[in-house]
Amino acid sequence: MASGALLKSTRLGLSWPGAKAVASQCRTFTSQLTEQQKSIQELARTFTNEHLKPNASRLDLQGRYPFEQLKQLTKLGLMGANVDEEYGGLGLDYLSLTVAIEELSRGCASTGMILSIHNFLYANLVNERGTPEQKEKFLCDFTKGSIGCFALSEPDAGSDVANIKTIAKSDGDHWILSGKKSWVTSAIEGSATVVFATVNPELRHKGIACFLVPLDAEGVFRGKKEPLMGVSVSYRAATACDITLDEVRIPKSYMVGEPGEGFRIAMEQLDQGRIGIAAHAVGIAQAALDTAMEYAKEREAFGKILTRLPSVKDRLTDMCILVETARLLTYRAATHVCTKNSAMAKYVAGRNAAAVADHCVQIMGGRGLSTNYNAERHFRDARGTQIYGGVTDIQKRLVGHYLLKEHGAL
Ligand SMILES: Cc1cc2nc3c(=O)[nH]c(=O)nc-3n(C[C@H](O)[C@H](O)[C@H](O)COP(=O)(O)OP(=O)(O)OC[C@H]3O[C@@H](n4cnc5c(N)ncnc54)[C@H](O)[C@@H]3O)c2cc1C
Repeated sequence: MASGALLKSTRLGLSWPGAKAVASQCRTFTSQLTEQQKSIQELARTFTNEHLKPNASRLDLQGRYPFEQLKQLTKLGLMGANVDEEYGGLGLDYLSLTVAIEELSRGCASTGMILSIHNFLYANLVNERGTPEQKEKFLCDFTKGSIGCFALSEPDAGSDVANIKTIAKSDGDHWILSGKKSWVTSAIEGSATVVFATVNPELRHKGIACFLVPLDAEGVFRGKKEPLMGVSVSYRAATACDITLDEVRIPKSYMVGEPGEGFRIAMEQLDQGRIGIAAHAVGIAQAALDTAMEYAKEREAFGKILTRLPSVKDRLTDMCILVETARLLTYRAATHVCTKNSAMAKYVAGRNAAAVADHCVQIMGGRGLSTNYNAERHFRDARGTQIYGGVTDIQKRLVGHYLLKEHGAL
């Protein structure tokens, strides 16, 4: 289409017959996705429009975990998107899961976050590193509705992972785990979790090991749902809580990898997890852009539709650029997985989502702060993407580290 016609169709609110299709293709880079990736994107988009968007605000305001929506996503196979088919998964690539998380997060950030952590930080870890016995116990049911968690953070060890204090002591054929984990997403509803614990605190990161722990095991105590952000809560329909491990006895066969490999496993899994969080942030940012655009096209000020005011148009343009740059980095990270790409995608997507959501609130004026509209929810949801899965400051450090390493300047 000639650029003049595209501009005209944009100005007229996408009135040119093919304009909607063109805009949607531009937005999603559909032409660069494989047929399989396109069909997963379409599946997630349809599900989002039909089941998530209409319910997201209600679930958020009521703080209700999206059980029904997760049940439907399980039927679609998305609770095991990357898991091998023999364990009940779809056996898809990371980009397919990434575009699905983006679409779901556009409709409901809480659902997108739950699905992202379950897949990238739990199911994929077991699928890629578990023994056949571990997969039988800790994977098969988890593509059919059980929810898995990732317990790394502790009260005194968030960014400083090597400082974890949860200890694993050997006792014959068993490990005995004791300690406290923080912020474990979905632990209240989950059935099992990956737990990182040290077998020798003096070795710091070299003493960490990775375990699979059923959440109904004797000695596991789940805390209360964490209240976040004052009265409001990011991902209000999702949950995170402490887990106390009080001499939890698990068979030796529940250890993933070898003692001392846990730190590397956690870091490599976070490389994947951060792609999921970046996709989550892109979805939230797209939702904020859509919300602002919809409002600006209707609202009048000074006798003009808001989109005709240069400052509003300028904000919308900035929002579009922020969304698209984040999306490009996120898709690249999903196809070329490495620490630098994942950290860069999470860094940019988190920051951009917060900026886009802020613009959205501003464009909507007073209504931007009202819980009767979606802008304030996007604002809360966007902020969290700069914290969980590793704060932005750490992502920047990681990018800097690999940049200097590539240049032999460390
Ligand atoms: C909604 C939510 C869900 C979560 N889900 C999970 C989960 O499922 N599993 C899990 O294990 N954890 C989870 N977390 C925990 C999350 O990953 C941690 O909060 C995060 O890694 C930061 O750790 P911290 O809160 O201890 O902050 P700290 O590590 O104490 O950092 C605080 C601040 O200090 C600064 N800082 C710290 N270290 C550095 C550094 N080296 N360089 C520069 N600046 C630095 C940064 O500004 C940082 O923001 C979740 C958190 C939230 C909010």
